[in-house]
Amino acid sequence: MAGLSAAARVAAEGGTVVLVEKAERTGGSARFAGFVWTTPTVEEMRRVNPDGDPELATALVDGFADGVAWIRSLGVECRPPVPVLGFGRGHQVDTNHYLDTCERLIRDRGQEVLTDTWTRALVTDDGVVKGAECVLPDGSVRRIEATWTLLATGGFQGDPSLRAEHVHPRAADMGLRANPHSRGDGLTLGRSAGAAFGKKDAGFYGHLMPAGVSLADPARFVDLALYYSEHALLFDTTGERFVDETVGDHLTAMALLERPEARGLLVADARVHREWISASYVEGIPGLDKFQLCHRAGARSAVADSLEDFASMPEEWGYPGATIRDRVEEFNAAARANAATAPGRLLDRRPLDEPPFYVVEAAPAITFTFGGLLIDTEARVRSADTDGAGPIPGLLAAGADAGGLYRRAYAGGLAPALVFGLAAARTALAGPPATAAR
Ligand SMILES: Cc1cc2nc3c(=O)[nH]c(=O)nc-3n(C[C@H](O)[C@H](O)[C@H](O)COP(=O)(O)OP(=O)(O)OC[C@H]3O[C@@H](n4cnc5c(N)ncnc54)[C@H](O)[C@@H]3O)c2cc1C
Repeated sequence: MAGLSAAARVAAEGGTVVLVEKAERTGGSARFAGFVWTTPTVEEMRRVNPDGDPELATALVDGFADGVAWIRSLGVECRPPVPVLGFGRGHQVDTNHYLDTCERLIRDRGQEVLTDTWTRALVTDDGVVKGAECVLPDGSVRRIEATWTLLATGGFQGDPSLRAEHVHPRAADMGLRANPHSRGDGLTLGRSAGAAFGKKDAGFYGHLMPAGVSLADPARFVDLALYYSEHALLFDTTGERFVDETVGDHLTAMALLERPEARGLLVADARVHREWISASYVEGIPGLDKFQLCHRAGARSAVADSLEDFASMPEEWGYPGATIRDRVEEFNAAARANAATAPGRLLDRRPLDEPPFYVVEAAPAITFTFGGLLIDTEARVRSADTDGAGPIPGLLAAGADAGGLYRRAYAGGLAPALVFGLAAARTALAGPPATAAR
């Protein structure tokens, strides 16, 4: 998303560009995504993402309308705005149409797209990045000289050891809910040139998925995501709740990673099943009975006719069923009395007391990482030498390769890739980097 957006914009403006793609086909995780969205205001962004970089967050919100206008200018439909995740706003877009249009535009302007090609090193000269050395499909090496080089490899979620190092020790075993090629190449290349990394402990964007179910088929990334957790109760292997589930499945996924064995039981009742499990998650997307899908996919799951049935939960599941029964009853009593619960429930405080009960074992799966190469609002990569204050001449980053924007919060993945991809194009089109300070 970031790389194609930047390259297409440069090509459209008459610039020279080479797009290098490691996979056989361009497009990455953006091919699975459907909504370009973020918060409608800077204030809302601050509320949901208080620890993110305020300048990047403002640039994202302020640049969103131009990003949407750019997509539309290519003849790609952006549907009318709809609410997303309760606090956001965005447009359904045929991302495949957009990505293919970008690629065609680059080629039609006589610029190059190299697929099945990976980058083994950046070309640097006295601290200035001057291009990259790429390995072509036949194994030969091509040195590409460039005044600006954009790192847009989509994050490091595909690499278990980088996940363990930067996300959480248990993240090495987490399911991958994204394209398999984003394995931290941008991060490694950027750091080899002296880039600063941030933010520490930034977390990741992901969702709860049925534990133990294979994610090899990308069609399952959306179908099996347990978005309805926001209206359910989640218990860890000690039988306790540990998070306010109502603030967002993406935040609950981060919290569950930190619990014992990173797995939990998601409990819903018949009302939640009716209103949320089999209903549409966002306007424009048809509803599916996710419980049925999980069950058919072989997830650990059950329908309990009453809360009493929890006491006879199979031992091999490894949860104290009687404790979970007691906790659901306590929660319901508090909810009916409008009393506080621990953890609290900010949004949906209704009891879960309509049998039958739908139980699925959930685990977090990662879509992309929030930590990355620190950039400024012009997508220039900040140098670790200057403690992140000054840029590395010639080096840009955008999309999930860039860090700083979000810390343990999320307000869109396509939008930052689009907005900072276009910012990278603007920087490159404005002329060569200033190098005098080096
Ligand atoms: C199922 C799913 C649904 C989603 N839905 C939404 C949604 O509705 N809205 C939203 O905002 N976000 C959504 N996202 C997230 C969104 O797709 C990402 O945030 C976005 O695509 C990130 O853009 P990017 O350019 O950083 O990475 P990508 O779009 O993933 O592109 C990275 C590219 O880099 C390539 N690459 C990796 N390493 C190298 C290398 N060394 N050299 C060259 N190329 C390399 C990869 O093959 C890939 O093509 C979704 C993601 C998934 C998986």
